[in-house]
Amino acid sequence: MPRTKKVGSTGRLGPRYGTKVRKQVLEVERKLRRSYTCPSCSADKVRRVGGSIWQCRRCGVKFAGAAYSPSVLAAPAGAPTKGGR
Ligand SMILES: [Zn+2]
Repeated sequence: MPRTKKVGSTGRLGPRYGTKVRKQVLEVERKLRRSYTCPSCSADKVRRVGGSIWQCRRCGVKFAGAAYSPSVLAAPAGAPTKGGR
């Protein structure tokens, strides 16, 4: 059984900052930890190595993308958009 039922990585924040903000943080942090498909070798091995910098662990290609996902276009459906409420 998971240690945190639904708060995930935002469990470290405890009760602070409010539910809404913690949910947004969780969304972003989930995206950070996921691996993405490489545009060059199409392996599922792309990880974030720094702000907007993404690298494939298979072929080693390094490229710039969005801050929290390798491509602005690859943002998963239902992701919060700017100013969206
Ligand atoms: Zn690759």
